[in-house]
Order: sequence, then structure tokens, then C-alpha cells
Amino acid sequence: MSIDSLVETLIRPEIRALQAYPVGKAEGMIKLDAMENPFRWPEDMVSEWQDLLAGCALNRYPNPVAPEVVSGLRQVMSVPDEYEVLLGNGSDEIIQLLAMAVAQPGACVLAPEPGFVMYKMIATFVGIDYCGVPLNDDFSLNRRAMLSAIKERNPALIFLAQPNNPTGNLWEENDLTAIIEAAKGLVVLDEAYLPFSRRNHLDWLSRFDNVLVMRTLSKVGLAGLRLGMLFGRPEWLAEVDKIRMPYNINVLTQASAAFALKHYDVLMQQCDVLKSERDVMQKKLRELGFSVYDSEANFILARVPESTETKKTARDIFEALKQQKILIKCLDGGHPLLNRCLRFTVGAPEENAALYSALGTVLGRD
Ligand code: PMP
Repeated sequence: MSIDSLVETLIRPEIRALQAYPVGKAEGMIKLDAMENPFRWPEDMVSEWQDLLAGCALNRYPNPVAPEVVSGLRQVMSVPDEYEVLLGNGSDEIIQLLAMAVAQPGACVLAPEPGFVMYKMIATFVGIDYCGVPLNDDFSLNRRAMLSAIKERNPALIFLAQPNNPTGNLWEENDLTAIIEAAKGLVVLDEAYLPFSRRNHLDWLSRFDNVLVMRTLSKVGLAGLRLGMLFGRPEWLAEVDKIRMPYNINVLTQASAAFALKHYDVLMQQCDVLKSERDVMQKKLRELGFSVYDSEANFILARVPESTETKKTARDIFEALKQQKILIKCLDGGHPLLNRCLRFTVGAPEENAALYSALGTVLGRD
């Protein structure tokens, strides 16, 4: 049998039909595509951290429950004692654990769309159905559509990203509560972009038995470490913890995250700079002729006007910026509501300035 037919026989058709998660080449580029924090740590902090890493025992397995990380998180995020903390290799892994935990025949994952693409991909990985419910044109929640999808599909797991990626907005609280109350399954409030947002849902854990709150250190400057966390009632987390690989948080991540959490104020100050840069970016993109959506995150969604003087499409602008070594995300074609849309991660002031100048050139506005 040829290898191709063996692959065809052995690998599930829905896996063969997938495209791997696209990660563009970024060497030498200004990276405004992946919601990373562009700043480094102050030098004295870097050397303190390096000394700490030098003392790490790489020959030993990590502590399976990462106690220092958990207590650091409890402290900086004010997590009440009655809730458990579960750590993942990025929140991606937590999404996967949750999906695996509910993956019975007929189970379904539901999320509003456009949303974070991994919800759907992971449902496929673990072999359960996925139901995407379109947002309204202004990216608000379509409460009626959500409630009727919940009634019809009875999803075991609902993901609500607040703020949402890629739209950057928060949804009306009364829409969220109506959905949580109607759901018979678990509802995960994904607060990946919390450090840039005006609303925090941690206290929703005490309001609703079926809510879990998920966060990550990726957007505050530790994307390379891969550390996500889930907060919730012990009844839920004890079950999910059974399918977590015992050593999923490695020695270096544990040491680095515990260290970073002791210096969380430095990370928060960097986020403050990004928030004020976000305001500038919103204004600049508007001046350049884009329709710009309000953002509560460290990125901005913007739509290219239907007829630009230069007749440039979103894809043209994306490619032209790439030529100038600036990487953003082109969302056109990804979802019908995202026609002509681009997503700009807010970078350091000099990176953003380079973006405005490059956009000025591309759009013939300088
Ligand atoms: N949730 C949302 C809404 C995201 O946008 C992302 C990353 N883009 C994640 C979760 C995953 O974050 P990580 O795996 O880096 O923790």
C-alpha cells in the first residue's frame, strides 16, 4: 500500500481536511499580527531572571501543580480561595482539555463568529460538533440566534471571548447573562485580553454554577512561555485536571512565570502604554480613511472603505505592508462579516509610527 493510501485509511477525514494553524514567517519584520506585547523587561529584571533560570534543575521533572505560579496568580488576579486554578500550556491547551472532557457522542461546542479560530479547530481535533453563531453586523451578540442555537443544539461547551478576537469588543452584559442562564452546558468566559479591557468577569464565578473564567499570560508579554489558566469551582476543575498531562507546565515556564508575577506591575505598566497607543492608532487609522471599530483589546479591527481613491483592497494593503516588513493580519475572506477587514496589533510607539508612515505611502496619502 502506498503511503498516501495508508494516510487516507488511517487518518480521520476531518483531520485530513484541516489546514494547519497558519503562522507567517516573521524574521526581521515588525510584528503587528499576533497580539504580542512588544516590550522587553528592564535590564536589572532580565539579569535577576537569568540568575534564577541558571539555578533551575532541568534534570528533574517539574512540580505537577506549579504551586508558586498558582499562588502568584491568585495574588495578582485576586482569585478567591474557594475557586481552583488549573494551568495549561497556553490557554489553547485548556480549550483542548475542556473539549476532551465533554467529548461524548453528540456533544457540541458553540461560539459566536467571527471568533477565535481555535474553538472550532479543537472541536474538530477531539471529534465533536461545532456550532458557530454569527454576530450582528456591528459585532454585537445576536441574542436571539444564540438562544435558539442553544435550544436546538444544547451545547456542552460555549466559549465567549471577552473582549472578542478578532472584533476587539465587549458584549452587552444582559446578552451574556441571558446566554449563561439559558445554557445547560459549561460557559467559558475567555478573558485573554483582560489586561486591556474595562470589564472583568471573575465574580461571575459566584453568580453562575456553569461559568469558568479562562486567561493567559500571552498578551502581557509572555507569549513565548505558553501559560494559560482556568479559574472555577473545584467540582469542574477536578474533572478537567484528570486529563491534564501531569508535567504540562515545564520547569523554565514555572520559574519564569512565578518570577514575572512578582513583577506584574512592570507588565501592567507596559499594558498601560499599549492602551494609550491603541487610542492613537484608532485615530490614525481613521485619519487614513479606515472604518475603525472600538477596541477593548491590544489590537484594532479596521475595514477598508468600499471605494478607496487608490482602489486598494484589504489584501493589497496587507501585501504592501509585508513588502515594507510590517506584518498585520488580513481577515478578508475569513468570515462574511469580515469583508475588507484588517487587524492591527498595537505595537511599541516606534513600530506604530512605522505602520502609519507605511500606510500613508500605500494609500498615497503622504
Ligand atoms: N483566547 C483568545 C480569544 C485568543 O485570541 C487567544 C490567542 N490569540 C487565545 C485564547 C490563546 O492564547 P494562548 O494559547 O497564547 O494562551
